[in-house]
Amino acid sequence: MPQRVTSILTILLIVARVLLDYTMAKNATQHAIENSTTTYIKSVKVPNTTVLKEGRNNDKLGWIITKTLWKGKRMYSLTLEERATCPPTCHHWDDCYGNNMPFAHRFAHGPELLKAIDAQLQTLTDKWPEGIVVRLHVLGDFWNRAYVNFWFTMLNKYPTLCIFGYTAHYLTHPMRHAIDSLNLCSNDRSMIRYSYNGTYDPIMPHRKFAATEDYKGDTFDCPEQTDRIDSCAKCGACFNKRITKTVRFLDH
Ligand code: SF4
Repeated sequence: MPQRVTSILTILLIVARVLLDYTMAKNATQHAIENSTTTYIKSVKVPNTTVLKEGRNNDKLGWIITKTLWKGKRMYSLTLEERATCPPTCHHWDDCYGNNMPFAHRFAHGPELLKAIDAQLQTLTDKWPEGIVVRLHVLGDFWNRAYVNFWFTMLNKYPTLCIFGYTAHYLTHPMRHAIDSLNLCSNDRSMIRYSYNGTYDPIMPHRKFAATEDYKGDTFDCPEQTDRIDSCAKCGACFNKRITKTVRFLDH
């Protein structure tokens, strides 16, 4: 076979392979959207002794908090299964970040996970006298009110623990009520922002928001996304109790 024909066949085979992979990924995501799961079922892990991951392994999160009242604490994160733990009202249900995160380890939610988190919090708060901050949830969300209350219990049990993150539960009222209470009763150690295009209202000081880039309310743009700062650990705006403005994120 002439070399030119061989080259053309090779290129056609590569194109066919790329198209096949793309179609399979698209089908898997569509299946996940319809069945309230992650696209990457094999990435859902049984909880182990290290469900909380060090922020120094995640460029966006960073490691030692350098600002706010939480200064000096170490950053950790928790990743759950997207959609399986999220409210269907989430505006990123279809185009979730997790659709493009095949390598993230999601931990299966349920009683085993709660035991694993509790045990690791004991270890980490013993290890770091300044305490730790847990970023909830890189993927996933609060799956029920008992789980929100679990974090309330953890904040009481570990006085050097702080938590921050984002939730899609602004429109699911019983859950919003529970998360409001978590923020309100935590003595500024829980800063869960609502992923919702809303503006801070001083009548509701426990409700802060994270908006999409087209939102025109009273906002500031996440400085990590615009390369003005390295990481959440060096920024702290989302968990700074004095910053009431809505944080605005670029669409992905
Ligand atoms: S505004 Fe700051 S704390 Fe909030 S996500 Fe961006 S870098 Fe992290």
